[in-house]
Amino acid sequence: SSWWSNVEPAAKDPILGVTEAFLADQSPDKVNVGVGAYRDDNGKPVVLECVREAERRIAGNQNMEYLPMGGSLKFIEETLKLAYGGNSEFIKDRRIAAVQALSGTGACRLFADFQRRFQPDSQIYIPVPTWSNHHNIWRDAQVPQRTFHYYHPESKGLDFASLIDDVKNAPNGSFFLLHACAHNPTGVDPSEEQWKEISYQFKVKNHFAFFDMAYQGFASGDPERDAKAIRIFLDDGHLIGCAQSYAKNMGLYGQRIGCLSILCEDELQAVAVKSQLQQIARPMYSNPPVHGALVVSTILGDPELKNLWLQEVKNSCIMSGMADRIIGMRTALRESLEKLGSTLPWEHITNQIGMFCFSGMTPQQVDRLTSEFHIYMTRNGRISMAGVTTGNVGYLANAIHEVTK
Ligand code: PMP
Repeated sequence: SSWWSNVEPAAKDPILGVTEAFLADQSPDKVNVGVGAYRDDNGKPVVLECVREAERRIAGNQNMEYLPMGGSLKFIEETLKLAYGGNSEFIKDRRIAAVQALSGTGACRLFADFQRRFQPDSQIYIPVPTWSNHHNIWRDAQVPQRTFHYYHPESKGLDFASLIDDVKNAPNGSFFLLHACAHNPTGVDPSEEQWKEISYQFKVKNHFAFFDMAYQGFASGDPERDAKAIRIFLDDGHLIGCAQSYAKNMGLYGQRIGCLSILCEDELQAVAVKSQLQQIARPMYSNPPVHGALVVSTILGDPELKNLWLQEVKNSCIMSGMADRIIGMRTALRESLEKLGSTLPWEHITNQIGMFCFSGMTPQQVDRLTSEFHIYMTRNGRISMAGVTTGNVGYLANAIHEVTK
């Protein structure tokens, strides 16, 4: 027997496994609405024009030195402005401990390890449902997990009353994971009023809010508006944590570029916290990669390129108007289902926001979509709207109608 005869194949990842199956399918009709990566109306990956321009400016002008352990300072400065606001007093007062991270996943994992190390008796409250990798991240960081109510399957909206009950019933000083905007997989966010109430209840209970913000700009098309939940918590005096990712809103998926920040009581505490975050990163990957950080800081540090980015996230043209194209496809999918005579309610397709539609289809219905129609998606019924195009929306609607009759 060999060294590794005890190793069994790992379970397939519920999200990335879908892409593998899609690639293996030979049917010309196949549709991938599984993974959350933006596609243009021809189903092709998109590189933003602001990114292309930043790369032209970078090309040939940079050395390949290591970044500092905590990453690029210029990158961090621009990234914090997006989450905390361009005029944030917390940035001016240097109260935010922040490190460049390996995209949103790496930011969450650094935080989970930090939580485990410095609040060893704490747990993390995670919404039901959530992005499946959240469970893996806090599991591997050995932080015990609890859940709180979030989605209401009947209304296909927020279960606000149960959410508030769970917040009230959690022990004082609990850690909560919140999706800052465009909740994955449900596409259901609290309203501004509801966020205010959640923030108030967190204050009463002295809970810690950790915001995972993987889709800033994707909910409304406007990154400022999408930071509203965070700003409400900041106004209420919370010391929050925040994971940011440029995978979706700059289309930098494979560059693995993001940021973890923790708002501290004062500058001294922020220095200490940042130094400890770096200590966690050092034995894992030592220091983060350069290229994505350069692309982001080149774009956000130049008013003209930043404007181009803001336009591209919103609606400059059909090819790259990411948020607007998705909103248009929601309408098209809903109208197609209604035209086909489906008697089920489909308002949630257009009410939900961000990249995903949490359709309400059962795992069995999803299995039929895949086996009979070559349509690939996660078994929880989540449709990545980014994979829906003018060309496939009719086919998709017909198939959904067939399996939900
Ligand atoms: N959090 C949520 C809720 C997500 O949906 C994602 C992307 N699927 C991430 C974090 C992190 O993605 P990445 O590591 O590519 O930034």
